[in-house]
Amino acid sequence: MKTCDVLIVGAGIIGLSIAWQLRRRSHLRIVVCDRGPGVGAGSTGASSAICRYRYSADNMVQLARDGIGVYQQWNAYLGQTDTRAIFQRDGVLWMPGEDAGWAEREHTRLSALGVRTRMLSDRDLQTMFPALNPCPLCPDLATAEAHDCKAGNRHLLETDGGWMDPVSAAQDTADALRRAGVGLHYNTEVTSIRSQGGRVTGVTLGDDENIDTDLVINAAGPWCNAVYRAADVEAPMQMDPVRIQVVHLDRPKSLAGKLPVTVDMAAGMYFRTQNRGQQLLVSSVREEDERETVDNPDDFLTVADDRFRAEKVHLLQHRLRGFSVDGNVRDYCGLYTVNQVDVHPVVGPWALDGFWVANGFSGHGFKLAPAIGALVARALVGSCGDFDCAMDPAYLSPDREPIRADSRSVLA
Ligand SMILES: Cc1cc2nc3c(=O)[nH]c(=O)nc-3n(C[C@H](O)[C@H](O)[C@H](O)COP(=O)(O)OP(=O)(O)OC[C@H]3O[C@@H](n4cnc5c(N)ncnc54)[C@H](O)[C@@H]3O)c2cc1C
Repeated sequence: MKTCDVLIVGAGIIGLSIAWQLRRRSHLRIVVCDRGPGVGAGSTGASSAICRYRYSADNMVQLARDGIGVYQQWNAYLGQTDTRAIFQRDGVLWMPGEDAGWAEREHTRLSALGVRTRMLSDRDLQTMFPALNPCPLCPDLATAEAHDCKAGNRHLLETDGGWMDPVSAAQDTADALRRAGVGLHYNTEVTSIRSQGGRVTGVTLGDDENIDTDLVINAAGPWCNAVYRAADVEAPMQMDPVRIQVVHLDRPKSLAGKLPVTVDMAAGMYFRTQNRGQQLLVSSVREEDERETVDNPDDFLTVADDRFRAEKVHLLQHRLRGFSVDGNVRDYCGLYTVNQVDVHPVVGPWALDGFWVANGFSGHGFKLAPAIGALVARALVGSCGDFDCAMDPAYLSPDREPIRADSRSVLA
């Protein structure tokens, strides 16, 4: 480990994907260091790993398409036949609330961008997903008063969307890297990034070992600010770790049929199934639930608030016919890394020759990771025929103008 060509700080899904996309198209000597004890120590381990295509910016749709396309061909991408992770093509259903024209507008836009979508009537919904109540209204959470549910809206299904187990996907990538001879080191913290005359010369690790290299990539997720400090440079935009709550319950046996990944825009929540449909995972798409910044990513409240939990149960009772709590309601929290300037990631060279960054992925990093890996690898070593990403790297460049988005929440 004394010298390498590229050193990646962080073995979350972003660092691993960059390493694999570089390895697929070069013989660079790559080292990946992670301070955690194993796979999924950061945001990746808490991710809902939903793979949806819809973003308000067309470039983000393209990135999502390139990323999700890789997960759908996971074995071929990793050159293996025995991967742990399997893409769950459950579809992603958008329920747009009372905006009657939303589904049609987005159907037209996404179709033009090469995303397969279907508009669904209430009747279609009833046939395909009988447990879902199509009502576009949100329950009154303040008074808990019942309303008369409304009918007649249009919903949008991304037919190729879904999700994938994030820790299995990260483990698969780590295995592929190891098989290809890439050095992947856990319990290994990068404490200093050395430079001379504005050029990176290497890193120092927690045990004072030095590795010489002219290229370091900050893929440290919520710890990215400590890595900027270790390089003695400012972050390009303000990056804050933000606490995100997730509720987890057993799927009641009374719920009929299949459930897609559902984005309930009126209620401000999303949910999906997991463990062969036996459990439900629920979280928020509201901006107000993405404001609790955390000073120290090693020390934050990892259980959900009582109110958050109770609200999600209440909202599910409206959205899912026959829903009742069967068993325990459990919860956990993870961290988004939010770029407070424009809520989009920054990817590219920054501040020093040989210093690259890939940070600020909020609730998007899982689906984007293979495309981000391709973007970085293409810029560093050139294109390759497959699993590539054609997007102009300037779009996410750390010194870009802020990107405009419809929302500052995960729905950006
Ligand atoms: C609750 C939740 C739900 C989400 N849902 C979705 C979703 O549905 N779809 C989606 O696409 N995305 C989702 N995301 C976002 C996605 O999970 C993240 O954007 C993605 O995992 C970020 O990956 P990363 O590699 O940048 O960061 P991380 O996974 O945090 O990895 C960073 C790694 O860097 C290591 N590290 C830090 N500092 C150092 C150092 N100095 N030296 C060595 N190693 C270091 C850490 O140990 C860590 O393992 C969700 C996130 C959360 C928290």
